[in-house]
Amino acid sequence: MSSAEATGETPLGGPGGHYDYLVIGGGSGGVSSARRAASHGAKVALIEGTPNLGGTCVNVGCVPKKVMFNAAHINEMLHASKHYGYTVGETSFDWGKLKEMRDAYVRRLNGIYHRNVEKSGVTLVYGMAKFVGPKKAVVEGVEYTADHVMIAVGGTPSMPDVPGAELCINSDGFFDVTEQPKKVAVVGAGYIAVELAGIFDALGTETHLFIRHERAMRTLDPLLSDILDLEMARAGLAVHKNSTTEKITKDEATGKLTLHTKDGHALGDLDVVLMAIGRSPNVGSLGLPSAGVEQSERGHITVDEWQNTSAEGVYALGDVTGRVELTPMAIAAGRTLSDRLFAGMKDAKADYTNVPTVVFSHPPMATCGLTEPDARAAYGEDAVKVYQSKFTNLFFGHWQMPPEDKEKTAMKVIVTGESEKVVGIHIIGMGADEMMQGFGVAMKMGCTKADLDSCVAIHPTASEELVTLA
Ligand code: FAD
Ligand code: NDP
Repeated sequence: MSSAEATGETPLGGPGGHYDYLVIGGGSGGVSSARRAASHGAKVALIEGTPNLGGTCVNVGCVPKKVMFNAAHINEMLHASKHYGYTVGETSFDWGKLKEMRDAYVRRLNGIYHRNVEKSGVTLVYGMAKFVGPKKAVVEGVEYTADHVMIAVGGTPSMPDVPGAELCINSDGFFDVTEQPKKVAVVGAGYIAVELAGIFDALGTETHLFIRHERAMRTLDPLLSDILDLEMARAGLAVHKNSTTEKITKDEATGKLTLHTKDGHALGDLDVVLMAIGRSPNVGSLGLPSAGVEQSERGHITVDEWQNTSAEGVYALGDVTGRVELTPMAIAAGRTLSDRLFAGMKDAKADYTNVPTVVFSHPPMATCGLTEPDARAAYGEDAVKVYQSKFTNLFFGHWQMPPEDKEKTAMKVIVTGESEKVVGIHIIGMGADEMMQGFGVAMKMGCTKADLDSCVAIHPTASEELVTLA
């Protein structure tokens, strides 16, 4: 039963009918696009398949993940406190209690999203949409047509095709965990694997990360993936390199899991095995062929730079298109599309270049623009210059331990041409997550190394290093 049906606000499947704009998917991209279109005076219907608006980000992504990251950060600060003269008594952490508070917060956000969409004049429909023709969809047997249809149905976690995969959880399942596991294995090498393994580890769970190659997050600039590798080891997170999962088995007597790798190793006594090997577009039940919408080999909806699909008057954006799978990107694409379609802004389109992003690892990493290898490939070896620095944040400076045991911060600025235009900025270290936004603005404005240097440093901070690199 949908929440709309439960409250009697709208009939199951909604009122049906013809609209200027039909939006399928009530997540980051769908909600922002629907509301923007309504603000331009369009008659809009928004269809969401679950009882909760907000999509991945609000329900099983950015928001609950950041709550867990914050909890992990507090534990790190508790451990750090002795270096600042504190004697902290015995502490305990109640995973279940935090989950209850986190879930309540997410439900509150669902309500806020629901009310904001309704206030904006958008017709909100709960139920799964399925195309039955070009620009024609049904929800619970009720038919919707529109001049313009937009698809923002997001993605779902992929699971490997190995024996015992059904014994594992994925990132959605992470948010259902009610008790802190003692020992976990996380399989994968991307954002989600690194973030969730880091959270488990920092909260005190024995954590093992299984990666197929030498480095996790190997698509980032090598400076970041190298330092991350060192920092994960320093924090006690066991990284099993060049390891491919063969199968998962369960000891029926104890309920414990064992992860077996293809090279004959086995790690047992696991409470949780979490698969984080990527995500797939959520298009299974959408009936895309009926809409005439083409997909890539991996199932993503193919779009051009204007978010147009292969079907006239049908658009797609966000994770379902497989391009820059980040909440603010989906929001930007959703809003600019509505500006183009309903406010006469014929040149409005989202810019997918120089998108700043943060990996909430321990320590966090922030990146914007090209990696050094990509910059060298794009501009040529001789046209690229790199400024970089590795140092210990003052926070750890006075700690009574050898320098090599202290957490590292590293930064890299990549420039090209005589003007030394900045084409990449990469940071790992304490506070990196809150540092990048302003530098992202500078890069959008086409900043040069001289522009960075012309800004007087803020002292003593870690970010001042970015305006004093020599
Ligand atoms: P979604 O937000 O997934 O919304 C799609 C909606 O469509 C869903 O509500 C779904 O129920 C609905 N739907 C699906 N099929 C149908 C149908 N047939 N009919 C009707 N409705 C349907 N991004 C960041 O920027 N920062 C982060 O820190 C971050 N952390 C993340 C952590 C995790 C664990 C995960 C999984 C993702 C994270 N992301 C983060 C990525 C971010 O969540 C996504 O990029 C973003 O949510 C994509 O928005 P979207 O609108 O494309 O899809
Ligand atoms: P990613 O695409 O980031 O990473 C998945 C990685 O898993 C691959 O790159 C690959 O790395 C590895 N992998 C693939 N298949 C297997 C396999 N069979 N066995 C073991 N490892 C495998 O996907 P995620 O699911 O982590 O995240 C999806 C997207 O969501 C991200 O790209 C990001 O856009 C978004 N996101 C953003 C966050 C943020 O902004 N902080 C947080 C979380 C998600 P390799 O080839 O090296 O093995």
